[in-house]
Formats: sequence, structure tokens, C-alpha cells
Amino acid sequence: MKKGKLINLLNRLGIQPIDINDGWIRVSCPLAETSHASKSDRNPSAGFLINDKGPSVFHCFVCGNRSMESILNTYKWKKGIDLFQGYFSDEVAEQEQITSYKEKFTEKSYYEHVPQEVLKMFKPIECADSYLKKRGIDLEVAKRYGLLYCDKFVTAQGTSWENAILTPIKDRDGKTYWLHFRSTEGKRFWHGKPKHFNLDTEWGRDDSFFGLDQLDLTKPVVLVEGAFDCLRLATLGMTNVIATHGGISPKSKKLFRLKSMNPVSVVCGFDADDAGKEFTQAVKHHFDDVVVLNWKLVSCKDAGELKSKEDLQIVLTQRNLKFQDKYRLKAHELV
Ligand SMILES: [Zn+2]
Repeated sequence: MKKGKLINLLNRLGIQPIDINDGWIRVSCPLAETSHASKSDRNPSAGFLINDKGPSVFHCFVCGNRSMESILNTYKWKKGIDLFQGYFSDEVAEQEQITSYKEKFTEKSYYEHVPQEVLKMFKPIECADSYLKKRGIDLEVAKRYGLLYCDKFVTAQGTSWENAILTPIKDRDGKTYWLHFRSTEGKRFWHGKPKHFNLDTEWGRDDSFFGLDQLDLTKPVVLVEGAFDCLRLATLGMTNVIATHGGISPKSKKLFRLKSMNPVSVVCGFDADDAGKEFTQAVKHHFDDVVVLNWKLVSCKDAGELKSKEDLQIVLTQRNLKFQDKYRLKAHELV
């Protein structure tokens, strides 16, 4: 569904759009009452995809994906709002007025950060020294980025979190806006949300990168996907690295923000896979002369897998033999 029609349909269903971002109309999950364990969606994490060429879909980080038909069906049977006919005849009546919502790229005037008391609930990262060693991350580097350790934490909902690394996503003001957890016992990741701490707030900012608090804009900025890629590179001596901690598209607020910071140059060090290529294209949409690092040259999928400083040097100097002269200086500046 096109944007206007979709907004009209949502209005008729009584679903209030929060904002529009990357082609998605973000909403508080309308199914939360029945589908979420918490029965609410305090950090709105659901959305409807605007699709000029076909049907829209619904996605919620808790409920998963649903078709528009499925959403309409729920509304018909649970709330008595039947918009099926209009939907299929493509005639969802216009409402008097499209209610106000924030269009993309409008800056929220104030972002809430994670209170210091929450961070104080966790242990120093020294407790995870052996795990960090295994991942090739220097303890001093982990401390500099403010990592913490969670030996055991029971959420307000009664879930127990054990043995995890807490990676705070800090911004340029040094404040923490997101809490990322990663189990030391397997490939499990999760977000720490206000509800887990029984807090009535909504922290976060959608234009954040991991590592912004350490960034020097007078030097080339290296972009990677994950915080651990960033930490591994910092351990190997490459310090001016930030992580997108999530996918990016040309419309991402993150890229508009980075652009507004006016970095001297941008280097892409995303994962050596199709998604990584997409992210690089998104960056090239905003910046000229983007240098691309190819981790495959040393048989790695991402920066986090780098085995040594020598391998990093190989990637920096051999990544693009054809253009070596043009980029030699930049590569040299990076470590
Ligand atoms: Zn949901």
C-alpha cells in the first residue's frame, strides 16, 4: 500500500503512527495486548511497510511478521472493526484529516538516556577477562568503551540473565542510549529495555553508533557492523571505528547524522556478505571516495575475526591494488 492509503487505513483502525523511517510507519504494536508477554509495547518496535508496488506487511520484533489480511482479521474478530471490503476494493475512505506524526529525519528534540543507576547494577568487565581474551579483545579497550559484565540479573518480568557482556551504546555526550547484551555461552543477543528494570521511561536514539564517544572526526572514520568488530579493531590499533549496530539503508537517520558531522573521509569495513555490500552502497549514497575494506583477503567474514595486526595490514594495503597510490595515505592514517 502506498503511504497515504496505509496511513488512512491505520487511522480507521485507530492505530496511531509514531513516525516514518526507512519506508516503515512505526507504531506501538496493536497486538501487544494479546501477543506480548508484557501486554504492552512501551518501546514501540512494530511497523507497517510502505509498498508502492504491492501489499504492505506488518512486522513486530515480538510478534513477528503478519500480512495486512491477518491484521484486518484480528481487528474484525477482536475489535469489531471490519475494513476488509474497503481494503480489497481498494477504497478505504479518507478520514477528515491525517493526524500529525513525525516525518522521517525530523530530530526528536530530546533523547532519553539510560540512567546511571541501571549501569551500576552490573559488574566490572574485568570479570569477563577470559572471554574477552578468547575473542581477541584487550581488557583496556573494553574498559575504555565502558563494557560491563552481567553475572546474574533477574528482570522485573522474572527472567534471569546470566553470564553476559553488557555493551553500552554511548553517544558523543558520553551518555548511554542502548544496552546490548551478548551471552558468553553462545550466540545469543538481547536488548536491555526500561521495562526489564521496572522503569517508566523510553531510552534510546535511532541515530546512534557504537563508539561515537571515542570518535575523532579529523581522522578517517571506519564503519563496521557490530560493537565486537569495533573492539577487535581497537585492540589491533585501529581506533577511529564506529559500529552501526544494525542494518542501514540510504534513508537511515544514522547516515544523515554521520554526514552532518562532516567527517574527513569514510571507510567501510562491513561484513563480507551481501548485507555488508548493501550497507556499503548506502554509505556511498552519502559520501564520495568511500574506501572499502575486504576482510576476505585474509579469509575473514568480518573485522571481529581478524587473526593479527599483520592480517589487518594486509587488508589495509592490499585491499585495492589498482588504487593503491590514491589511497595509500589514508590506509596509513588508519592505524
Ligand atoms: Zn507485537
